[in-house]
Amino acid sequence: MTGADLERMSRRGLWALPRPALRLVFAVNAFAVAIAVLASVPMAVTGREWAWFAVLTAAAVAHLEAARTIERRREQASKKAPYTNLKSLWVFGGLLVLPLPLVIALTVVSYAYCWFRVYGPAVLFRKIYSCSTFVIASAAATAVLNGLPAGFGARLPHDARSLLIVVAAAATWWLVNYALVVGAIVLASDEELTARQALGHPGDQLVVASALGLGVTVAVLLVHVPWALPAPLIAVLCVHRDLLLPQYLRAARTDQKTGLVTSVYWADVVTAELDRANLAGTGAGVLFLDLDRFKQINDTFGHPAGDQAIRAVADLVRSEVRARDLVARYGGDELAILLPDLGPEELLSVAERIRSRLAHTPLVLSATTDGRPHTLPGLGCSIGVAAYPGDGASADQLLTAADSALMQAKRHGRDQVRTTGRGGG
Ligand code: GH3
Ligand code: MG
Repeated sequence: MTGADLERMSRRGLWALPRPALRLVFAVNAFAVAIAVLASVPMAVTGREWAWFAVLTAAAVAHLEAARTIERRREQASKKAPYTNLKSLWVFGGLLVLPLPLVIALTVVSYAYCWFRVYGPAVLFRKIYSCSTFVIASAAATAVLNGLPAGFGARLPHDARSLLIVVAAAATWWLVNYALVVGAIVLASDEELTARQALGHPGDQLVVASALGLGVTVAVLLVHVPWALPAPLIAVLCVHRDLLLPQYLRAARTDQKTGLVTSVYWADVVTAELDRANLAGTGAGVLFLDLDRFKQINDTFGHPAGDQAIRAVADLVRSEVRARDLVARYGGDELAILLPDLGPEELLSVAERIRSRLAHTPLVLSATTDGRPHTLPGLGCSIGVAAYPGDGASADQLLTAADSALMQAKRHGRDQVRTTGRGGG
């Protein structure tokens, strides 16, 4: 992982951070500088180590330059969640063959290069923080690697025990870095974050695991068959796009406020699902849910409290449906839910269950304008239901039917579930 992507930090500037976040940023930076200074005092570097350092630095720079465009997009798309990439490959490879001061130098060169060529100057102090988390993680991993037998030059795995130590060092490196990044994201946020927002998507951590694994391979080649190094470098450059593209695409199709999917992505999935239902001869359905008089919550408690309510509704709806159902944030206070394989009766009962849960689940709003928490007994919502194929044979027809059912629910007094009446439900 390459450290924090603290959107808030860049938007509001370092000094506008909440106090605890500011303290963490300064403590982490100071600690990293102290490590760099202390590690450099007894520094003795051999000619071979300088050569390894030069090769790793050149490879890291070539990698960053080749992956520049996609990295910039991914970094911009990651918003509040931790942003992971493959920079750790070269740093962890370096940890196995270089003394700590050269690993720190490699880290600083990588970040400086990224700052100039990839991210742009606007995010300087976030990248300094990320660089510091790398330095601290590297020092912690070095402490673990010191458990390897003395006299064994580069710290490569050569039997079961040393392999275990290298794996433990990689795990330590990952954990220290991840904890410092997530800690900063949580402290820098002035609103409640969902676990998913703070921790990021678990799949993103696979990028770090692959980087650490490749780092070991690079270190082994560097020591034993350096002329084979271009092979993993080419593989990394070519795979980079395909490995990281899914993460970027996921960010692009996710509504940042709720973690639900966006309406555009949802509509694509609906079309594909109806094709499947058509072939399989099964039913399917969509629900449109709009909160009742939601504007009053904004007017009474403020917009941030309204945001909290939208997030709570999103979480509750997601917990009420199956894993294969897909919930989208369709508009401001409107959600859309795709329910494969259900007939009209079942769709109605799911809709009624969601309405009833929302109406009876107390909602605590803490981000209120008067600064005091308020508890609402529940939220009213109106739901329009449309069943495939009775209410529409295409995605467009089905969505139009669900929308007009929702309008009917609103017109007939809100807080209710409606169908068009044609789907048989
Ligand atoms: P109705 O019962 O007719 O749905 O009344 P409503 O007040 O819910 O009105 P409507 O659905 O037409 O408008 C939704 C309101 O939700 C408009 C806007 O003030 C608010 N809203 C939209 N997006 C957001 C958001 O992201 N955060 C917050 N806090 N409020 C939002
Ligand atoms: Mg509404």
